[in-house]
Amino acid sequence: MRGLMMDVPLMISSILEHARRFFGDQEIVSRSVEGPIHRYTYRDLAARTAQLAHALRALGVEPGDRVATLAWNTYRHVELYYAVAGIGSVCHTVNPRLHPGQIAYIVNHADDGYVFADLTFVPLLEALAPQLPRVRGYVILTGETTMPQTTLPDAMCYETLIGAQPTTIDWPVFDEHTACGLCYTSGTTGDPKGALYSHRSTVLHAMTAGIAEAARRTESTGCMMPIVPMFHVNAWGYPYVALMMGAKLVLAGSAHDGASLYELIETERVQNAAGVPTVWQGLLDFMTANGKELSSLRSMRVGGSAAPRAMIQAFEDRGIEVIHGWGMTETSPVCTNGSVARKHRDVPNRMDYQTRAGRCLYGVQMRVVDEEGQVVPDDGVSQGELHVRGPWVASAYFENETATQAQFTGDGWFKTGDIISLDADGYLTIHDRSKDLIKSGGEWISSIDLENAAVGHPEIVEAAAIAIPHPRWSERPLLVAVRRPGSTVDAAEILAYLQDKIAKLWLPDDVVFIDEMPHTATGKISKKTLRERYAAGVLSG
Ligand code: ADP
Repeated sequence: MRGLMMDVPLMISSILEHARRFFGDQEIVSRSVEGPIHRYTYRDLAARTAQLAHALRALGVEPGDRVATLAWNTYRHVELYYAVAGIGSVCHTVNPRLHPGQIAYIVNHADDGYVFADLTFVPLLEALAPQLPRVRGYVILTGETTMPQTTLPDAMCYETLIGAQPTTIDWPVFDEHTACGLCYTSGTTGDPKGALYSHRSTVLHAMTAGIAEAARRTESTGCMMPIVPMFHVNAWGYPYVALMMGAKLVLAGSAHDGASLYELIETERVQNAAGVPTVWQGLLDFMTANGKELSSLRSMRVGGSAAPRAMIQAFEDRGIEVIHGWGMTETSPVCTNGSVARKHRDVPNRMDYQTRAGRCLYGVQMRVVDEEGQVVPDDGVSQGELHVRGPWVASAYFENETATQAQFTGDGWFKTGDIISLDADGYLTIHDRSKDLIKSGGEWISSIDLENAAVGHPEIVEAAAIAIPHPRWSERPLLVAVRRPGSTVDAAEILAYLQDKIAKLWLPDDVVFIDEMPHTATGKISKKTLRERYAAGVLSG
C-alpha cells in the first residue's frame, strides 16, 4: 500500500529560498579574486542569483544545457551553483588545476555551451579556446572596471550581463531526478570521469551533512568555511549546508597558503572549516613557524586523502576537533562522519578512533568485499574493497560506458576501489586504494600506514610509499619523502625510526628525498607521477 503523503520534489532552489526568507541577514564573506574582501547577505545572494538566472535564459541556456565554471570559492561561484541548477541546467565545475589537455577534454565531453571564468583563468582559456569549438561564449567573473582585454571570442563581463535583470524570479519546479551539477574526478588513478548529480541527491546529501554538523553543535548560526574548492565535489556540500542551517559562509578565493587562511579564519571568526590534509598542513606549518594559535575554530573536516596522525594530534592539542571523513566525487562526497562516538571520547586510546575515517552516515549503505567476491565481517581486521550505495551515490558515469561497466556491479553497488575494514562500532579504516597497494611476497602492504608512520618523524613534511618491481618479492615499497627545509636527515635515520613502528616486512627498501612532492589537481599526492618517475628502477634483491 502506498503512503498518502505529498510528493514534493527536492529542489536546490528551495535551499536558496529558505535561506533568503529565514536567514536573510546572514553573511557570505569572500576573498575576491580582484583582491578586496567582499561581503553581502543571503538576501543579496538570492537577488543576484535571480538576475543571473534571467541572464542565462537571455543567453539561450535551456534546461539540461551544461554551463561550465572555472572559478575559485567566491560569492559569484555560489550564484552560479544556484542559478544554473535553478533553471534546470547543469553546473559543470571544472577543476582548473587539471592539466590543460584534460580541461579541454572534459569541457568537450560535457558539451559545455558557456564558460564562466575568474580573471585568473583568462590566459588559460585564451590558449584552449581553439580546441573548444562548441563553446558559444565566455563570461568573465568580474566588473566593468576590472574587465581585461582578451582574445576570447564572445567574451562578456559578468556584472554587465546580470546588472539590468530583475532581482526576483519564480523558480521552476520539475522532476527532482533532473541533473543539476557535473563534477569530474581529479584523475588520480586515470582519465577524469564525470559524476552527474541530481537535485534530489544534492538536497539529501546536504541534509545528511548538515545533520552530522548539527548533531555536534546545536547552534545553527555558526560560521563555516569550505577551503575545499568549489570545483572539487561541490566543496563537500558546504554551499548548500550553510544556507540550510543559516550559517555564515566564508570563502577563501584563490589564497590557500597558511598565512592567508589563518588571517581569514581569525578575522571572520570561522568555527568550522573543511579541506584536504595538505591545506591543513600548510596552516599548521605557518602557525608553528610564527607562534600563532586559532581562537575561533572549533572543528575542522578533513578528507580526500589520509590525514596523518601527527597532524590530527597537533590540531587536537590546540583544542580543535578534527573530523576525518571519507568520500568520493561519485558519492557527492560525504559518506562518513568522523566524530568519535561518545563511548570513545574519554578512553586513553581516543586517537586510534579519531584517526580513522569516520562512521557511515544514515542513508549510505556499505559492504566490504574480498578478492573472491565474499562479503567480509565487520571485525576491524578483515579487509576488502568498499562498495557503497545510496541516494547520493552515482549510478553510472556521465557518458562513459567503459568506466561504468568497470565500476558498478550488476546488483546496484558502486565499487570504490578503496581497500578498507570496518569494525564492530562501524569505524572505517582505509588501508589503501587498490591501485596503490604494494604486494610483497603475496602479502599486502598499506601505503597509507607506511606514509603515516613516516610523517610522524619530525623532519619529514610529506611522504609517499609506492610499489617498485622486485625480482624476488614481485614488489617492494619505496618511500619518497620531502624533508623539512634545512634538514639533513638521511635514509638510514628514517629506516631506523620506522623499525619499531611497522612490521619488518613493510620497511621500505629505500628512501628517496625530493624537494617537492607532485600533487594532483585537488592537492593529493600524485602517486601516478611518482610511479612513472621511479617505475624503471628495480630494487635489487
Ligand atoms: P580522485 O579519485 O581523482 O582522487 P576523489 O576526490 O573523488 O578524486 O577521490 C576519492 C578518493 O580519495 C577515495 O576513493 C579515497 O581513495 C581517497 N580518500 C577520500 N577520503 C579519504 C580519507 N579520509 N582517507 C584516505 N583516503 C581518502
